[in-house]
Amino acid sequence: MKTAPEPPVTAATNGSRITLADGRELIDGTASWWTACHGYNHPHIRAAVEDQLATMPHVMFGGLVHEPALRLAARLTKLLPAGFERVFFSESGSVSVEIALKIALQYWRNKGAPGRREFVAFKDGYHGDTFAAMAVSDSATGFHDAFAGFGADAHRLALPTSSQREDDLREFFEHRGDRIAAIIVEPLVQAAGGMKIHDWETLLRVRDLAATYGCLLICDEIFTGFGRTGTLFACAAAAITPDIVTLSKALTGGTLPLAATIVTHDVFAAFWSDEAAHALMHGPTYMANPLGCAAANASLDLFEREARLEQVAQIESALREALARCRRLPGVADVRVKGALGVVELQRDDRSAELRRRFLDQGVWIRPFGNVVYLTPAFTIDSDELLRLTQAVERVVAATG
Ligand code: PMP
Repeated sequence: MKTAPEPPVTAATNGSRITLADGRELIDGTASWWTACHGYNHPHIRAAVEDQLATMPHVMFGGLVHEPALRLAARLTKLLPAGFERVFFSESGSVSVEIALKIALQYWRNKGAPGRREFVAFKDGYHGDTFAAMAVSDSATGFHDAFAGFGADAHRLALPTSSQREDDLREFFEHRGDRIAAIIVEPLVQAAGGMKIHDWETLLRVRDLAATYGCLLICDEIFTGFGRTGTLFACAAAAITPDIVTLSKALTGGTLPLAATIVTHDVFAAFWSDEAAHALMHGPTYMANPLGCAAANASLDLFEREARLEQVAQIESALREALARCRRLPGVADVRVKGALGVVELQRDDRSAELRRRFLDQGVWIRPFGNVVYLTPAFTIDSDELLRLTQAVERVVAATG
């Protein structure tokens, strides 16, 4: 806490711009942790939230339902691969992961297999900061070492990025497969763990392992959901259907906290029972908050009406071209791009404070973690703004060496 520099005070946001209280204007390269996919303050989302505010800002979702949530649930299940049927709304990504893990454990208990109580997660994975989410995250990437040993029983193994690694995982499952409730994976990009990109074949191997050993597959699409990697959902790129999906971040276009845990018909069927003890007991106070649901519905309108995925493809080629120049700079370990994500990985990981300061001096908001400098701009960013971001990356990385 003591060593962190004083954060600048923000006063306003608009499009891909952040205005600071001292009057400086920054071009935003992060879309506020990749949430504001339509840019800040999109008038369509603002109008939807204002209308909802005037009629019903909130109402409890226990024993009552409302139209914005019903509509959103129907739209989300339609957008996901066929088979997804039921939605549980919560308020943050971490909580949606907790709910996914609870569903997986209770699914097996309800089905008479209570011995399946462990999870398989992956090295460099990150799924949130609550206890069970920490347990399935790589402790190094989540800075969770202080809490090691608490939370869910999880094995953190290497992603099967090759058939050799698949064999290693298979061996693990041969010995322990009947104790595993679910595998949890961030499809295509392990985000907070270093913006590491894997291919769709890796996801196919994970899907195949879960099917072979009979456990559930949870795809955490909190980073990838809503177009970031080029398809609306990353699991669509591998044409896989997981059993449970978690969504948050860009769900409301970066305006309000909302998350969803979405399950297939088969998973839900295990909870559809005359036994009260088979119900999923989880009831967050602000579950399915109508303002959040209105914002999410408006965000989905924009995905329908405007060519967001084409914008992602254009950003991808601009990032590929511009960031390629960083490859030859001293101190650069890797450059990688996937959809509207551009990454320059440095060899040294002790420069992030200096990098952040230099980016501010360049008039851009780019916030590296460790040795990872990344851009996750709004999909609506214009080409000049994107160019200023990539030029700032090149300049700052060159100066930091
Ligand atoms: N899962 C993934 C893949 C994430 O990227 C994040 C947030 N960075 C989370 C879960 C946790 O979400 P939240 O911060 O909203 O709790």
